[in-house]
Formats: sequence, structure tokens, C-alpha cells
Amino acid sequence: MNLILIGPPGAGKGTQAKRLVAERGMVQLSTGDMLRAARTSGTEMGQRVAAVMERGELVTDEIVIGLIEEQLRGLDASGVIFDGFPRTLSQAEALGTLLSGMGQDVDAVIEMRVDDDALVERITGRFTCGDCGEVYHDRTRPTAKPGVCDVCGSTNLKRRSDDNEDALRRRLMDYYKQTSPLLGYYFAHGKLAGVDAMAEMDTVAAEIAARLEAA
Ligand code: ADP
Ligand code: AMP
Repeated sequence: MNLILIGPPGAGKGTQAKRLVAERGMVQLSTGDMLRAARTSGTEMGQRVAAVMERGELVTDEIVIGLIEEQLRGLDASGVIFDGFPRTLSQAEALGTLLSGMGQDVDAVIEMRVDDDALVERITGRFTCGDCGEVYHDRTRPTAKPGVCDVCGSTNLKRRSDDNEDALRRRLMDYYKQTSPLLGYYFAHGKLAGVDAMAEMDTVAAEIAARLEAA
């Protein structure tokens, strides 16, 4: 099962991907996480993309396609969730080619629909565990004990430097210009389903599960 989660920044893609990993043993491939890891470890590519990410712009197709290709090559999993990739038509076409080279296909694409107005609050309240990657929110999903990750007990909780209103506006603009055409692309391929991502996290998870059963 190769599943793509599509939605604007803050739609809940990472949150739902982590649940699918925990509940179904799927593998999450997040290009945002890969790029942040490259930035933190200070690789040449990481240094090159740092300023672009900070501004909330897209990094080049070549870089992210290369990252996905590298990850897919070493992977032996029964299910993959693509989170934050593809974000352009070229990336979607490259993914199709990579998967068909492995005798596979994109099986389902789920659009996570959220009101734009809700995104600022979601993004500005987001923090994550720097050790296990669990996603939290100041209001809708705080940690049980302040400053301590519920999942792994780490106190290394972080906020992203691009989770501010200015960068969000640029990311949202890119979403509408570059990523939203993918909805038409996957609809035409008969792969697209939508979920109401304004609902509570458990409800969204149940809706996604229902879409996966139908795929
Ligand atoms: P994305 O990966 O699409 O950018 P995240 O999964 O990181 O989005 O979620 C963005 C923020 O919104 C996080 O702080 C998360 O805890 C919160 N969030 C996710 N899903 C919901 C939901 N259904 N209702 C309310 N808040 C949510
Ligand atoms: P995300 O974690 O998905 O919100 O991505 C964070 C940032 O990483 C984005 O604002 C982009 O700068 C970059 N990025 C992540 N995935 C992609 C992609 N598929 N294509 C281009 N840039 C990306």
C-alpha cells in the first residue's frame, strides 16, 4: 500500500502518518523531516536548503526526488505513507516512475481538507519531540506532563523556525499554486479521496482508515 497524504501545512498529515505507523506498521516518508535532518547534520545539501526552508519556499524537485529515491531503494515495507511529497506535478510524475520501476503504484491519495483560517492557529501552536518526532499542539494536543514527551519521556521538545505567520503565508501560497493541481492529477487517475481534517484527530484517523479499506 502506497499512500499519499496531501494537504496544506498544518492539515495534520504528520499527526495521522504517525498513527498509521504505530497502528499498521507502515513507514512514513516525510521530505520535510529528511530536509530538516540534513540541515541539522550540516551536510552540504542541508546548508544549501536551510535559507529556502526558513522562508517557507519549496526546495528544488531534484533534491526531494533524490531523497525519496534513496529512501525507496532501501525499503522493504508493506506500506509507505508519503507525507509532504509529492508537492509539484514533476514530483508526482517522478514518484510514479520510481514506483513503476519497482512494480508498484500509488494506491491511494487522501486530501486532508482544512479551512485556511484554522491553519495559523495549528501552525503557531505546534511543537514536536526532537527525539521521537511525536507532534503536539499547545491547545489541542498538549503533553500530559508539561515539557515531557508522552511517548518517549524526552524533554527535548522543539518548535520549528518556519512555523510563523509570514512563512506560513508563503507555504500556503505554494500549496495553492504548486501542490493543489495534484488533486486534479490524482482524481483523473481515480486515486483521490478526501477527509474532513477539521474534525478531531480520532475522527480524522477513522475516516482515513475507512478510505484505506475502500482503496
Ligand atoms: P502537517 O504535517 O500537515 O503540517 P501536523 O500533523 O504537524 O500537520 O499538525 C499541525 C498541528 O495541528 C499540530 O500541532 C497538531 O498537533 C495539530 N493537529 C493535527 N491534527 C489536528 C486536528 N484534527 N485537530 C486539531 N489539531 C490538530
Ligand atoms: P514540511 O515539513 O512538509 O512542512 O516541509 C518543510 C519545508 O521543507 C517546506 O516548507 C519546504 O521548504 C521543504 N519541503 C518539504 N517537502 C518538500 C517537497 N516535496 N518539495 C519541495 N520542498 C519541500
